[in-house]
Amino acid sequence: MPDPVPHQGFRDSVASMVEHAMSLLDVPEGTADALKACSSVVQVSFPIRLGDRIEVFTGWRAVHSAHRLPVKGGLRFSPDMDQDHAEALAALMTYKCALLDVPFGGSKGGLRIDPRQYDEASLERITRRFARELIRRGYISPAENVPAPDMGTSQREMAWILDSYKDLHPEDLNHIACVTGKPLELGGIPGRLEATGRGVKYALDAFFSEPDAVREAGLEGKLGDQRIVIQGLGNVGYHLASLLQQKDAPRIVAIIERDGALFDETGLDVAAVHDYMQRTGGVEGFPGVGFERDGARMLEADCDVLIPAALEGVIHAGNAERIQARLVVEAANGPCTWEADRILVSRGITILPDVFVNAGGVVVSYFEWIRNIGHIRLGRLHRRHEATRGQHVISAIEMMTNRSVPDWLRESLTRGTQEIDLVRSALDDSMRLAFQEIRETREIEGNDVPMDYRTAAYLIALRKVMRARSDLSSF
Ligand code: GLU
Repeated sequence: MPDPVPHQGFRDSVASMVEHAMSLLDVPEGTADALKACSSVVQVSFPIRLGDRIEVFTGWRAVHSAHRLPVKGGLRFSPDMDQDHAEALAALMTYKCALLDVPFGGSKGGLRIDPRQYDEASLERITRRFARELIRRGYISPAENVPAPDMGTSQREMAWILDSYKDLHPEDLNHIACVTGKPLELGGIPGRLEATGRGVKYALDAFFSEPDAVREAGLEGKLGDQRIVIQGLGNVGYHLASLLQQKDAPRIVAIIERDGALFDETGLDVAAVHDYMQRTGGVEGFPGVGFERDGARMLEADCDVLIPAALEGVIHAGNAERIQARLVVEAANGPCTWEADRILVSRGITILPDVFVNAGGVVVSYFEWIRNIGHIRLGRLHRRHEATRGQHVISAIEMMTNRSVPDWLRESLTRGTQEIDLVRSALDDSMRLAFQEIRETREIEGNDVPMDYRTAAYLIALRKVMRARSDLSSF
């Protein structure tokens, strides 16, 4: 049955969320218009000869706000890509970076293509040509605009883009910083691939470490006590779901994928489902559990926590009334429309918003970019020194107590910090700090009842962006 409620576009939906927060800040009209406007957007179309035919591809890169440089955000390969998506997602990047204190502006782009329809050699030619079009126009560069993987792209595409940039700018000392999310051998950072999923996990840890927050959402117990539905076992959903399963063991009662949903009240085995998907390309036929062809219906399933980790706009005015979860965790960008947001909030359902929840990717991208600009592995200068200090501490304790330090402690004190340890702990810290800031803001700014998490997140981000925009401030 077609959805009877008229849809707002993605960009307008994000703009409505921002406007709502702005109305609480009494932002003057001109400033509000400036904050909502997308600074620039480029559309490129180019032909590629594939075998005996020529195909024309169209792509976009939008810069929402360049108050800090470089601007940052993914490049998406999707048949749904258009300018509206680029602008909406670029605005989300601005606010995500501001909220997490990542000193970048916001950008996003993508190509309208279904990458599954092309072989690797064709994709490489298409990607390299798209990259050249953007590089020539200043929409990819280490100092100004730095893409990363997004839906339909991965380390592989970043490697092709990096190589195209290097070809055009061999003199640029910082060329490897023109993209993040690269393969490790090309200057990538350990932990970037899992970063968004791991960031969602840290966001959940921060939420569940606050008994008041849990109670207020109408939930009980720890993260491990929850019944969870996840939509999307792509890069974000998969890393999140496997971390949850390894660390907290909540029951993942449904997994929604492109070809339908699997469900099992006793909990699904994420690794087995992922393995099955790798082999067959979908979830249908996975043995021993329930299957529902109309996957979207499972968003409405009885559960505690619903984690949309795939597409935008999946929770909309047409289904928001039927969502049963107490907590919606936006691991994807824009999974709830503004209309859905209002319905869920009025029903007392808590939403942890995308600008906070899925910011782990760009946080670790920031670490990768610093590493590239610094031309040094994080921790390289003090690793050995730390290990030696640890050895001295152990020797002192052993000398003074006449007892030996247990092996596990010796190992941890003398190992020296690995880069992956630094990345994970700094990501954890970033997510916790942002959560605390949101908690405090919603309590201080809310009238009697704390405001919803999204509005509080936007209040923080908007204030930071306004302070950093010299064109809007009077000094
Ligand atoms: N595509 C990711 C996002 O939407 C990461 C962006 C980045 O690292 O620049 O947040």
